Amino acid sequence: MHDVVIIGAGPAGLSAALWCDELGLDTLVLEQQAEIGGQLNSIHGPIENYPGLRAPNGQEFLKKFSERVEAADFDLWRSAEIAKVDLKAKRVELLSGEALQSIFIVIATGVRRRQLGIPGEKEFAGRGIIESPTRDRAQFAGQDVCVIGGGDAAAENALLLAEVCPTVTLVHRSRKLKARREFAEQLQGQHCITVFPESGVTRILGSDRVEAVEILRKDALKPFQMAVRGVAVRIGVEPNTELIHGQIQLDEQGFALVTSEQETDVTNVFAIGDVCNPLAPTISTASGNGTTAAKIIASRLQQKSS
Ligand SMILES: Cc1cc2nc3c(=O)[nH]c(=O)nc-3n(C[C@H](O)[C@H](O)[C@H](O)COP(=O)(O)OP(=O)(O)OC[C@H]3O[C@@H](n4cnc5c(N)ncnc54)[C@H](O)[C@@H]3O)c2cc1C
Repeated sequence: MHDVVIIGAGPAGLSAALWCDELGLDTLVLEQQAEIGGQLNSIHGPIENYPGLRAPNGQEFLKKFSERVEAADFDLWRSAEIAKVDLKAKRVELLSGEALQSIFIVIATGVRRRQLGIPGEKEFAGRGIIESPTRDRAQFAGQDVCVIGGGDAAAENALLLAEVCPTVTLVHRSRKLKARREFAEQLQGQHCITVFPESGVTRILGSDRVEAVEILRKDALKPFQMAVRGVAVRIGVEPNTELIHGQIQLDEQGFALVTSEQETDVTNVFAIGDVCNPLAPTISTASGNGTTAAKIIASRLQQKSS
């Protein structure tokens, strides 16, 4: 029996765990990946907006986080695959067969990349679909590529790919890019990047690997094909809430709904970080949510024992 089981070891889950540890709670964190850090592992640019700490990229930021995590006294299980959660009963079953019982559950499962759902996207996974512009850099160097999306992630990916690709075509739906100003300005200065606003990619084509995309511009009657060897889909995120579907109240996009104490509509079940925060998904809000949940949990446990 643990006081708290936290699901997810991104900034939200780790912040909650650090506070739970400081407040003397018996805490277990379950992370499905072999690595902790969540989206920090996908941040390739500098992090300059977290109070008091700057880092050249997410990995360096995570190193500082990890130092604190290693010094703390909570349990952290990596590669922990959860088969089932019963939020009312506060029971978690792992695929390995273990069953865990706790008094509180904290959901910190974050978000994942949204898929477009167009033909070719799934079929060419690993064969021209770009997962990471830094990790896949060598593979796509010297190739023409396409990035789909108009937000920060799309702009950052286009800029990173432009360092090694002869042409980068950025296709996005709106009239203006949604990416932060700093990225938009950098895009303008790159001659190899072409931006197609008010446009969509309708198909990804090829035989063995990606060979072309089909693009439909808003005012055009017919789509046209453009030869590319790589496609990065960066059209936003969706919450990782499948595990708890039907057990707590979610908004229409699947994000967890919480009170100002980060509690869901199931007593003693909390949600923190991006999984409940579509409006301000940042490291600092994730960390703040984690702190709030830990403090509320500690005070409830104290009330119970006094
Ligand atoms: C490219 C990029 C740039 C960014 N730049 C910045 C920036 O400059 N400043 C800033 O403040 N923020 C930035 N962010 C956002 C920031 O990274 C997120 O807001 C933050 O990571 C959210 O933390 P989280 O813990 O809520 O979720 P996540 O980081 O998504 O972590 C969730 C964790 O839960 C795990 N998980 C999911 N499902 C399960 C399950 N069923 N069982 C067990 N574990 C599970 C995941 O594997 C993951 O480790 C950026 C994000 C990206 C992608």
